Amino acid sequence: MTSAPITPIHAPVPLGEPSLGEEELDAVRQVFESGWVAGQGPQNRALEAAFATFCQTDHAVAVNNCTAALHLALLALGVGPGDEVIVADYTYPATGHSVLFTGATPVFADILPDTWCVDPEAVAAAITPRTRGVIAVDVAGQCADYAALREITDRAGVFLVEDGACSIGATYGGKPSGHPDLADIAAFSFHGRKGITCGEGGILATESSEHAAFMRKRASFGVESALARQGSNELPIPVFDELGYNYKLSDISAAIALVQLRRIQGLLERRRAAASRYEELFAGFDAVTTPVTGADRDHTWQSYILTLAPGVDRGAVAMDLRARGVGANIGTYASHREPVYGDVPVCPVSADLFGRHLAIPMHANLTDEQIEFVVASVVGAVTAHRHS
Ligand SMILES: *Cc1c(COP(=O)(O)O)cnc(C)c1O
Repeated sequence: MTSAPITPIHAPVPLGEPSLGEEELDAVRQVFESGWVAGQGPQNRALEAAFATFCQTDHAVAVNNCTAALHLALLALGVGPGDEVIVADYTYPATGHSVLFTGATPVFADILPDTWCVDPEAVAAAITPRTRGVIAVDVAGQCADYAALREITDRAGVFLVEDGACSIGATYGGKPSGHPDLADIAAFSFHGRKGITCGEGGILATESSEHAAFMRKRASFGVESALARQGSNELPIPVFDELGYNYKLSDISAAIALVQLRRIQGLLERRRAAASRYEELFAGFDAVTTPVTGADRDHTWQSYILTLAPGVDRGAVAMDLRARGVGANIGTYASHREPVYGDVPVCPVSADLFGRHLAIPMHANLTDEQIEFVVASVVGAVTAHRHS
């Protein structure tokens, strides 16, 4: 069965699209001219300073991706074999992977049905004597319930980490994602599918100078940074006294991320306008539910995810949309279902939404014409593939 004919627009509408242009190219040109293209150079320093200011915190540490950032955060917080870390179940599996990297065990906690962020009650119920901390996830760019989570982690004497991969520019209770009142350490992504990007990249935010120094050193082999060694009168011979990784961000990438950070308000406004338009156009179509934003939060709209009514064949809808040139995909993953984590307890809300979520195009370059085409296409495809 095919959907009602809809006048196609000229070009396909991708699910996501980076907003990169002349300003970023100019910044890259300047890095080439400077000669410092590797990590921990002046562009990394400038990015870190600007990002810490943006998050209203004291320290930022730039790294090569958010997964590495989460790994470093857990190491700084002392996580190791035998420990348990409670992880929001509905997320890209990088979150759970970061716990496995340390030799600890991820314990997945179910999510709230409206915001899809971790349910504080599920977190409280998952705490055991082995729990070292909690990783909350800002799903699709909406902050988790940090006030409620903080109360639980403070009472238990464990840490709270924010996986803000999708939430650069989000706010919670008027405070930016990454603010120290939200979590002890926050980790962010500059991957191509996120709101601001340099291709691949990540950054950490924390109020703790101790954690920042620890993470910076472990991101560079366990040795002091090249910049810190400059200016000494004697030949500086680095000492490797800790086992570190090479998680550095190149200065080429840092320069791009810095331009993107300067442009963020404009990019966020365009995503927010697109989200409002989607909400208006889907109103009254009862086979899909549009996203719910908590009253005390600003969303970044890294993704725009519809919840399909039970009985709609999501796979068929997504394939129909793709055939029309409209990007479509699942929302994100129910981590507990992924074989890499073994046989772990079910998180029913997360499992249900893993089956019913449909991500549709969302990026800062969407035009009104494209949004209308996407909505008409979704309505057509969902109507055609609704079986109850
Ligand atoms: C994208 C994403 C990650 C991984 O980010 P990378 O920079 O690609 O490592 C982690 N957590 C969440 C919630 C994500 O969406």
